[in-house]
Amino acid sequence: MRRPVSTQPVLPFETEEKKLPRLIESLAEVCRQHPLEEKVLIAPSRFVGHQIAEALARSGTPWVHLRIESVRSLAHSVAGPSIAREGLTLLSRAQALALIEQASAETLAGSPYFGALAARPGLHRAIQNTFDELRSAGISPQALPESAFGDARKVAELKDVLAAYEAALAKGKFVDRAEVLRRAVHALRDSPRTSDALYLLAGTFELSATEAELVQRASGGHVRALESDGPDGWTENATRASLFRALGEENEIREILRRVLSDGIPLDDVEVLSTDPASYGPILYELASEHEIPCTFGQGIPATFSRPGQAALGYLRWLGRDFESEELREVIAGGLLDLARIFPGEPPGPLPAARELRDAHIGWGRERSLATLDLHIARRAAEVDSARRRSDEDDEDLNARVEWLKERLATARAVRELVARLLSLASEPVDGKVELRAIARSASAFVGGFARIAGDLDAKASSALQGLFGELETLPVTRLSVAEAASRLSDAVRGLHVAADRPRPGHLHFGDYRTGGYGGRSRTFLAGLDSGRHPGSGLQDPVLLDEERQGINAAVHPRELAMRGGRPAENVLALRACIARVRGEVTVSFACWELLEAREQFPAATYLDIFRLVSGDPAADYSDADRGLPPAAGFLTEPPRALDETEWWLSRTQAPPLAGGRVASSVRAAYPWLADGFAAEEARDSQAFTIWDGLIRDPTGLDPRTSGRPTSCSRIQDLARCPYSYYLKRVLQLRSPEDLRADPTVWLTPLERGTLLHEVFRRFYADPTGAVERPLYRRDWNRIESIAGEEIAKWKAKTPPRSVAAFEALREDVLVSCRIFLLREEEHCRDVAPRWFEVGFGPSRESTEPPGDPEPVRIPLGGGQSFLLSGRIDRVDEESPDEYQVWDYKTGSPWDTSEPERGRGGRRIQDALYAEALEILLARAGRPGRVVKSGYFYAGRRGEGERFAAPRDVAATRETLTNLFDLLRAGAFPHTPTEEDCSICDFAKICSGADLAGTRAQNKLSEEAANEVLAPYRRLNPS
Ligand code: SF4
Repeated sequence: MRRPVSTQPVLPFETEEKKLPRLIESLAEVCRQHPLEEKVLIAPSRFVGHQIAEALARSGTPWVHLRIESVRSLAHSVAGPSIAREGLTLLSRAQALALIEQASAETLAGSPYFGALAARPGLHRAIQNTFDELRSAGISPQALPESAFGDARKVAELKDVLAAYEAALAKGKFVDRAEVLRRAVHALRDSPRTSDALYLLAGTFELSATEAELVQRASGGHVRALESDGPDGWTENATRASLFRALGEENEIREILRRVLSDGIPLDDVEVLSTDPASYGPILYELASEHEIPCTFGQGIPATFSRPGQAALGYLRWLGRDFESEELREVIAGGLLDLARIFPGEPPGPLPAARELRDAHIGWGRERSLATLDLHIARRAAEVDSARRRSDEDDEDLNARVEWLKERLATARAVRELVARLLSLASEPVDGKVELRAIARSASAFVGGFARIAGDLDAKASSALQGLFGELETLPVTRLSVAEAASRLSDAVRGLHVAADRPRPGHLHFGDYRTGGYGGRSRTFLAGLDSGRHPGSGLQDPVLLDEERQGINAAVHPRELAMRGGRPAENVLALRACIARVRGEVTVSFACWELLEAREQFPAATYLDIFRLVSGDPAADYSDADRGLPPAAGFLTEPPRALDETEWWLSRTQAPPLAGGRVASSVRAAYPWLADGFAAEEARDSQAFTIWDGLIRDPTGLDPRTSGRPTSCSRIQDLARCPYSYYLKRVLQLRSPEDLRADPTVWLTPLERGTLLHEVFRRFYADPTGAVERPLYRRDWNRIESIAGEEIAKWKAKTPPRSVAAFEALREDVLVSCRIFLLREEEHCRDVAPRWFEVGFGPSRESTEPPGDPEPVRIPLGGGQSFLLSGRIDRVDEESPDEYQVWDYKTGSPWDTSEPERGRGGRRIQDALYAEALEILLARAGRPGRVVKSGYFYAGRRGEGERFAAPRDVAATRETLTNLFDLLRAGAFPHTPTEEDCSICDFAKICSGADLAGTRAQNKLSEEAANEVLAPYRRLNPS
């Protein structure tokens, strides 16, 4: 006896009887009734159609002569021959978008309606979607009724863009999707078809009026809609659904994978559907790759997840930001280039190559790139030579050092070759403009010749990217600035998805709920059912509002532009239809917590409806759901369900507590470095001052009183501000990586600006030509302005500004500073005469004539102790023949000197030490004198020409220095307990930061802690 289709055994994979989706049942009936006739199944997409046909086969129904089509493929089959005959080219979405961008650029420049939005990629995409709708409906630019628009400017601008776009299509002999549909319908109107084939619509799905006409005409009027499970029948499956919630989207996907793996469900029996594939797809892709779970992705994977995609974006940023070396450095350091292919033989490693590029200090600019690298190579070569000449190392050390330097030199040369080859790909702008297709060509050559491929996805992405750039190369000439061209191509790369695939054996499948549930898999997970994602907002199309659509529909036939305000209701129906058509178990979930923003998220109304059905309580509200749902899935799970080792270890932390007990000791035994970390944290939390807090065991040579090496005021002030940061910077000699990425609106760093101003001030007094003793603003302004101009020009040649605006802003700032300087100097120099400038003392200080001296000065500390000091005094003024003032130029703000409290504990000691140093230098030079004032002159704009000079207190200075040097002698480098000290520190990331480090430091510095080794610092920083 023949069984009804719905209860036939499902073969070959299942032996149990399983109720089939209504769509498969009705298709099976047609196949049985018309086994040999040609059948054309029209599905929402061919991917979906193939899933339906495969599900039919798995249900045990044999079929032949079943052709799968989508509306698009049907239109192509009808219109394709005429398109080929006429020599037209079919445009991809990316190409069509590029034409719309160009049409917008041509027609919306200075637009009064779209205004500043006219250049935004988001607007171009919205215009593309709206134009698709209009053109699919056969509405030409001229047919747009002005009466439908509240603002006449809007319709005029839309007409212009649409007309320009259509003109570009006609000129380039291009056709887009809408044109293919239009041509297909017209062809069928002109020559109606008679067909014996059975045309079957795979259930109900959205068709525009033109698409419906195409299907009707292609089928000769014999299309039949197959019965399917409609949204009304959703409750049966929903009532049996499982529900969970998770802390963030990643944990939602983790929990799905945990359930699949721990329940031992075959992967090809699982479908994960989402309301937001753009967010959930990449998360699943990352986790599936990490755990080697084979997956297919209905919408594909963003190309930006592949190495070639990331490399292409980095390359385009490099081009668009005027060859900013930091962008290229990131591409190299990220291992995105195939250095082994570029340098067969002995390729440099990505990190050494990236380091050489950074050490070259290119900054940006085509010309600067190679010139600066040449200088860098010359420096590296000189290092090799000078190392060879060194005689204070034994042979083995010397050879090792020379080999190391030679390796760096070879890497620097390889980087130069790489940069030269990349530069040769990039076409030179003419009058500041390039052709979009030229940049596309170079991006394609870059991906094909340089980007690293390390897997299947990379290979697919590389080929898809070259295809994308190849398509854009075929477009008509469009001239843009390099930044605009790079930005357009980057946008196209971001929109590219690769490796889209239908469900495959052995693979879990991920897709969108609208196109999911057709394959008949027995476990379906519906993710992303939070209220933010579903049913979505009823926001209208920004290009054509619903009111305008109604007006167009009323004036133009056929009336078919859809209303966007009804989208949420449509989404609810689509989700219900999806739940109705799936078979087997359904699990619905949502992320109840947004991890990045640390805020709560709520379930969608449909999720609450499902909760009501499952709980049998039709009146349940959100608080009932909150109480009735299991705790949110997070990073912790039960050990048997752990996805990986990390989850397993985390799961073991739930009981007993991590800080003690057997589990903690097992973790520490398994990971000795982790054990060290726990020991360090315990020590830091204690009151004892330990090696984990900055106590070093062998401080030999650190105390300048006994080392015999000169120290400087900046070192002493660093030590006073935070001994721990001094230890990192001055003892371990750590440096934070320099980020050479420049803000295009800023030219010169504060340090560079300060150096420039120092040189202007020095030259104003010290240049023999026109040097003055008693400046007068009126007389001397031209002179200082011209010196400033010369110094600015020197910096401009050395470091070209990124923009005219940045250059002008800096120039203006320098001139204002010069004006303030000169006005204050006129006043100040009524009582004193500027005498010496840049007075260096000590080795490598480019010492001036006396009183400057290449020998350091010895500063006495009392009790027979002293130390050597080197430095450079910006300026010495003569008050009377044996009385002097010492001034240090500051070009920033006076916040640190205007408050005496901020200088305590040696944080500001330079004024006192330079006063003492000058007296020693004067005596050495045979013209003894006394320093009567020593301080800081805030000559820049932010300092407004203020001068600060504190009274000298030699005894207090000596006591401060003795305390600081006692710390060095003991090797004790505590963290500063004062948060303010951390505001200009580079090491916050590695010292646990101001809050925690400061609290711990206060704890260790307290009297009760009795850390004797910290007594000197406690004296300097009484609480
Ligand atoms: S962040 Fe603060 S405590 Fe840490 S090293 Fe820097 S200055 Fe010292």
